[in-house]
Amino acid sequence: MTVRELIQQARIDRVEAEILLADVLGVERAWLFAHGEDPVAEPALNLFTDHANARRDGEPLAYLLGYRDFRSLRLGVNRHVLIPRRETEHLVEWAIECIDTGAKRVLDLGTGSGAIALACKVERPDAMLTAIDCIVEALACAKANARSLGVQVEWLESHWFEQLGVAQWDLVVSNPPYISASDAHLQQGDLPAEPDSALVGGQTGLESIEHIVEHTPDHLVPGGWLLLEHGFDQADAVIACMQDRGFQHICSRRDWSGQPRMTGGQWQP
Ligand code: GLN
Repeated sequence: MTVRELIQQARIDRVEAEILLADVLGVERAWLFAHGEDPVAEPALNLFTDHANARRDGEPLAYLLGYRDFRSLRLGVNRHVLIPRRETEHLVEWAIECIDTGAKRVLDLGTGSGAIALACKVERPDAMLTAIDCIVEALACAKANARSLGVQVEWLESHWFEQLGVAQWDLVVSNPPYISASDAHLQQGDLPAEPDSALVGGQTGLESIEHIVEHTPDHLVPGGWLLLEHGFDQADAVIACMQDRGFQHICSRRDWSGQPRMTGGQWQP
């Protein structure tokens, strides 16, 4: 079978088929356009067919490729971690603004693949990053990403702040699970394949956020910031929650599509 025929017969999105075939053949996607009539032999033929079938069955492209690009990084991902999202790239931008105004000690809560911590560290090497996750396999994925990028982050196994003692940071940043357990979105796109622990914030969707807002002040220096990603319809609830806890200068920011998808506040005891 030729390159062109394989792509045509994959019965998945054409661009995704091209990305998967290029990955299997170890070539750039552009190469395929000049080699449409080249035959594809085993084992690439079988591997591509398996990947295309899995994709048709709902396996996320990122898990099939084993990576997802996030800001300037190519991050290894697997079924134990959330696939890094473009929205979170904005959260990193906000975190970097805080680092640039003096917040050098940064804590990433629920780091998953390590996306936030690693992007902050690569883009601002003078920052000191600590990142926690309660899933050992996720931490292993994050550590492997740190090794291949050659950057130093302190990785700790902890359920939110539980194992962190009395340590304090200048900035706490998190993309916590914030989808309601009954939300129909959980059945759509890549979400059914991703770990519930990375997605579901209890029945209301806000349970993890409320927990983080409640406990962050114990771990922030005076003047420190908390930045949280959340759902497109949760900004008002997150603002109210941070106000109740006594945060100041609370504001929300919008993502690429104009939705208010992150909220931050400053801790001034
Ligand atoms: N911090 C990681 C990310 O933003 C994982 C977040 C999560 O698992 N909810 O991609």
